[in-house]
This record gives sequence, structure tokens and C-alpha cells, in this order.
Amino acid sequence: MITEKEIIVDGQRIALPSRHVWDSFVTNPIYKGVPVYTKNTKNLVLDLIQLIADYPDYFCLGLYRTSHVTKSWSVVPLLVRNEVWRRVQIEHISCLFCEWSGRIANPTEPSLYFSVSDEFAALQKAFSLDRLPCPKCGAELPRHAVWVESRMISKT
Ligand SMILES: [Zn+2]
Repeated sequence: MITEKEIIVDGQRIALPSRHVWDSFVTNPIYKGVPVYTKNTKNLVLDLIQLIADYPDYFCLGLYRTSHVTKSWSVVPLLVRNEVWRRVQIEHISCLFCEWSGRIANPTEPSLYFSVSDEFAALQKAFSLDRLPCPKCGAELPRHAVWVESRMISKT
């Protein structure tokens, strides 16, 4: 059973499958007859499915179609704060001043807005958001973060 929840972000309609549906994409990545990921984007999307499992209070994953990506849906992580949905890019970065490294959500990646009707205004708004510092030492991070993972990742 597919849920039909949709939201409008930056003037664009985005489908918002439930976490349960996202979990099913791990084994059957088809939504409304169209692939959710391709061989090239599979690992990226599986990482994002893990992210919403790790941080269900912060993130959802949305799906939209664009004219320049026709083979599959485009997947976008959305950070929700104070009932505002914001598209973000999840990045792994390291602090330049201490040993912290982890994931951040960066709203200023231009490709996030390629399919938005007023791409420039949406990007300007993203740049105006407050930047979060390193969660460990408080220094400025090398990328624009509106969410920072506070625990250390131990990749094994
Ligand atoms: Zn630091």
C-alpha cells in the first residue's frame, strides 16, 4: 500500500513515502512504477535510508521527478525544524581544528535547487540560514551546516 502524502517545498511538489515504504525500497526500489535509485545512486540512497532510521525526528526523504533525470526518481533529504521542511545535502566532514568528524546537513548545495522554479531565491534563502559550529570545539566548520551529528561515527 503506497501512501500518497505530498508536501510543497520551494514551490515544488515532493512525494513523502513513509519510513516503512522507504525500508521496503531496500529490497524493491520501485515507486509508482519508476525506480527510486539506479545502480549508480544505490549506495547513496541506501545511506540516506539509514540516516532517516538513525534520526527519524530530524529527517524525511522525499521523491520528485525532473525532466533532466528521467530514468528514476530524484531523492532528496529533508530536514524538518519547527514544521519547516528544508532540502539539504548530507555530507561527511571533519573539523579543521579538532578531531571531530561526522555528518552535517548542508542546505547551500546548488544542485538541490536545480528543479525549483525560483532556484536563485531558494538558494539565497539557504545561505541566509544560521551556520552551526563544530559540536566538539565550537570552531566554524568548513561547510554550511544547519544540522550537525553530535556523536562520533565509528566506521568499522
Ligand atoms: Zn572542532
